Amino acid sequence: MTIETQIKKIAIIGGGPAGIGALNELIHTSKDGKSYIGVKDLSSNEQAFGDIVVFEKNSSTGGLWNKDIIEKALDPQLPNLELENYDKAEEVYYKYKIPENITNEYSIDKPLAISRKKNNTDIYQWSNSGVYKDLFTNVATKYMTFSYDKVVPRLNRALGPLQSAWDVTNYLEKVVKDYDLKKYFRFYSSVENVEKINDKWVLTVRKQVIADDTEEKFIINEEWYQEKFDAVIIANGKTIPYFPKIGLLKEFVETNPDIYITHSKSILDPEILHEKKKVLFIGGSISAVDLVQYTFPRPLNPSTVFLSRNSLPTYQWVKNLSESEGITVKTRIRNFIPDKQGVEFEDGSIETGFDAVIFATGYHQYVPFLSKEYLKNHPRALDFYLHSFSLEDETLVNVGYNTDITAFFNRLEGYSAAVAGVWSGFKTLKSKKDQEAWIERQKTITNKVFHQDVSQIRKEYVDDLLEFFPEGRNDPFGGERTSFPTDAVEAIDTIQKIFFDIKEGKVDGKGVFEVLE
Ligand SMILES: Cc1cc2nc3c(=O)[nH]c(=O)nc-3n(C[C@H](O)[C@H](O)[C@H](O)COP(=O)(O)OP(=O)(O)OC[C@H]3O[C@@H](n4cnc5c(N)ncnc54)[C@H](O)[C@@H]3O)c2cc1C
Repeated sequence: MTIETQIKKIAIIGGGPAGIGALNELIHTSKDGKSYIGVKDLSSNEQAFGDIVVFEKNSSTGGLWNKDIIEKALDPQLPNLELENYDKAEEVYYKYKIPENITNEYSIDKPLAISRKKNNTDIYQWSNSGVYKDLFTNVATKYMTFSYDKVVPRLNRALGPLQSAWDVTNYLEKVVKDYDLKKYFRFYSSVENVEKINDKWVLTVRKQVIADDTEEKFIINEEWYQEKFDAVIIANGKTIPYFPKIGLLKEFVETNPDIYITHSKSILDPEILHEKKKVLFIGGSISAVDLVQYTFPRPLNPSTVFLSRNSLPTYQWVKNLSESEGITVKTRIRNFIPDKQGVEFEDGSIETGFDAVIFATGYHQYVPFLSKEYLKNHPRALDFYLHSFSLEDETLVNVGYNTDITAFFNRLEGYSAAVAGVWSGFKTLKSKKDQEAWIERQKTITNKVFHQDVSQIRKEYVDDLLEFFPEGRNDPFGGERTSFPTDAVEAIDTIQKIFFDIKEGKVDGKGVFEVLE
């Protein structure tokens, strides 16, 4: 049976792992509601969705794993804001002003062209990738590949089941090439606004071309246009840094221009931490311990590496590493002491003389292209049933990194497969009342212990999606229900081994992670 879906033209916002996965899912769904995922030659299938565009604001595919942005310094150090604004995404992120005269008469072929000089607000896009050159993953390769396109799991002897950042980059580039996905992408194209007008989603797009990148001139040519779509997929990732409001932060930043104060995501090469004499990490989770290792080797006593955290780490291995010798764990910070380059902790103790302060404090979940006005009129637009379907409108979905756990490509696949099933018209979502009840239930789940726990991840994020998959779509986890399969256990062991090897100076964290065979 063939069903004519009303959803023909789809916009995917973001070309990272989630956007790539969604695109692959949609083009592999046929008009008769079947999934051909994994098939490379699609010439004999009639696709359910005729027209798909992936908007990507960077120069190529891969999201955080895009080679072009991993090595570029694009972020500012820390915004200079009033204290009450530090923890607000809309203050930390600079949203481009949409030209007043933009209308749907401006199309991709006839855009509104604007030429302007780069200004200092451009950097508040926070375009750096949090991934840095020598990073190795904290999730096993098996779960950072799509289930329908597995690579040889052990790429690099030194990393066991893990991979280097380049391995992930190369894998994603290979997927794009093998499935001929590039033709769906529009690069340097940032979606600045999304609103629904008369049953169509109207996207306002800003295409950027650097016309002159000399420091004196730096001319940016912008092409603005609007385009209508039947449905929108949000896959914009999480890149806007979260800064907690800590007393005297603004004064600390202003008084100490020589201190290296930055968010963990803005560090291009963690080697810089090794040169610092006294380092304070704010935040005690994975992104903090990942960077802490690069401050070593250094004398362990007296300790010159401090880690301030507000609760015990969720994962035992993070606790083991962050409490190891040479690292002093402290409580939350009460306030900065600007003239002493120091801080007072909530337990009353004081430490001074820091020359580096790293905010390893995570990210905002932020969708800047949905305007305040839209969200005011559609207050539940960002409540996602099954983590994916907007409660306000099922033609708006989220398939990306929308929770606090790592991506796990299998999880991302689950969202997109369900979207393909529902949007092709072959599967129907539960009633709004049931959707609301599901969302309410989610809010009561407080004890999330997910990192590497494959069984819990699939139970919490993927199992409920399976019934909405197109016919023949495989379970992204291949039926695996073990809590900590061998690869996941080995991943945690490997992270810990490398941490201590770097800390003790046995390896320098560089080079050894290149492919050895
Ligand atoms: C340091 C670090 C280490 C990590 N390690 C791991 C790991 O080991 N394992 C793991 O599974 N995950 C890891 N992650 C999580 C990581 O987020 C995921 O691996 C994955 O990149 C998420 O994919 P995504 O597509 O949702 O988002 P992203 O990779 O962030 O991609 C989003 C894309 O959307 C684009 N975009 C954003 N807004 C717009 C717009 N308005 N218009 C057009 N394009 C837009 C961006 O340019 C970007 O290309 C790590 C993250 C960090 C920061």
